[in-house]
Amino acid sequence: MSSQVIAARIRGFICLNAHPAGCAANVDAEISIARQGAPGKGLGGALVVGGSTGYGLSSLVSAVFGYGARGTVVCLERPPHGEKTASAGWYNLAAAQQRARGAGREIAVVNGDAFSREIKEQTIAGLQKAGGKLDQVIYSVAAPKRVDGDTSWSSVLKPIGVSFRSKSINLGNDQVTEVEIAPASDAEIEATRRVMGGEDFAAWVRALAEADLLAPGCRAVAYSYVGPALTFPIYRSGTIGKAKEDLEKTTRELSAMLSARVGGAAYVSVNKGLVTQAAAAIPVVPLYISLLYKVMKAAGTHEGTAEQIARLYRDHLAPGQTPRTDAEGRIRIDDLELDPGVQARVAALWAEVNTENLATLSDYAGFRTGFRNLFGFEVPGVDYAAPVETDVAIS
Ligand code: NAD
Repeated sequence: MSSQVIAARIRGFICLNAHPAGCAANVDAEISIARQGAPGKGLGGALVVGGSTGYGLSSLVSAVFGYGARGTVVCLERPPHGEKTASAGWYNLAAAQQRARGAGREIAVVNGDAFSREIKEQTIAGLQKAGGKLDQVIYSVAAPKRVDGDTSWSSVLKPIGVSFRSKSINLGNDQVTEVEIAPASDAEIEATRRVMGGEDFAAWVRALAEADLLAPGCRAVAYSYVGPALTFPIYRSGTIGKAKEDLEKTTRELSAMLSARVGGAAYVSVNKGLVTQAAAAIPVVPLYISLLYKVMKAAGTHEGTAEQIARLYRDHLAPGQTPRTDAEGRIRIDDLELDPGVQARVAALWAEVNTENLATLSDYAGFRTGFRNLFGFEVPGVDYAAPVETDVAIS
């Protein structure tokens, strides 16, 4: 047992600790968004790979609390250790599990490397033991690295072909600076594809199909991002964008396989740019997100991951809904972000923004709070002066 008062320990785009009560409060807020207007039933099994934070956690919460799914999560989170807190995703899942039990539902957690064969086998064995099949497989892993036996690949966030110079926020000192990012080598482009492309999503879906765990009509969904022209050099036309193209191509192939095997389908959903642990690490993106939040909050169209995913379920993934897709077969819930009026306003602010006017032109304050919220800090209603038990279990 380790009860202590916890203050955030932040270094740039990394937070070294997490607050269990703040994470639990975040999960409660997500549950209430997921329940709004949802039937609370309709789904059998749902597996979320990368379901402890960000878009994956919101997907788990929507599937379980919005549509009554039996949830299984695969994630890579740090348990508490002595005086050290667990990672935020650990506390998120501990709270989600507890709330699920209270509502007569189950969330099974497999904590380990999703890329590995062992974790796939462990997950499949758990699903077989529990019985029932999967109506949905959601793939929401955002990882810096993939290890396969003796080989490992690290993903990089770099432009392709030419250097990219751009404004960016230095999250260490809150200054708007000019960054120059050199183009990726061919090896880095390939390594990023290996980590964030479609291979592991396909390996999961194929292994689950081989194990006869996919229910008739099963849908497999992975997440992607497009964003505005402003961020194309570092995102869509960069190394991560190449990996997303690979994910989208693989998803089309998987869809044909699922259709033939179980009458199912695979989709990519293109989601909105938001503060998550993964997004905060991308150069340039925090400044873009800060301006985007300012414009979308003023327009009344701002959504967080919970609202995005609740809309994804309501309009596309709920039982009985047929997903609507763009010309390339992708579900688009980034429509409000890419609204031409929103983007014109963001582009105008982008031209003007500097360190002096950052606080007024952008919602950098919202970005910073959003970042702290991810780790359970600065969450409304939480008493941060009170000691809290950090040794929280996931079963
Ligand atoms: P996140 O950092 O909040 O979540 C990442 C998840 O992956 C966590 O559950 C983590 O535990 C898990 N994970 C990481 N490495 C793992 C490993 N080796 N084994 C098992 N689990 C592992 O990220 P996010 O921003 O929610 O991103 C999820 C997906 O959504 C990604 O595909 C991302 O590209 C996409 N997306 C994100 C945004 C955005 O702005 N954040 C926008 C559109 C699409």
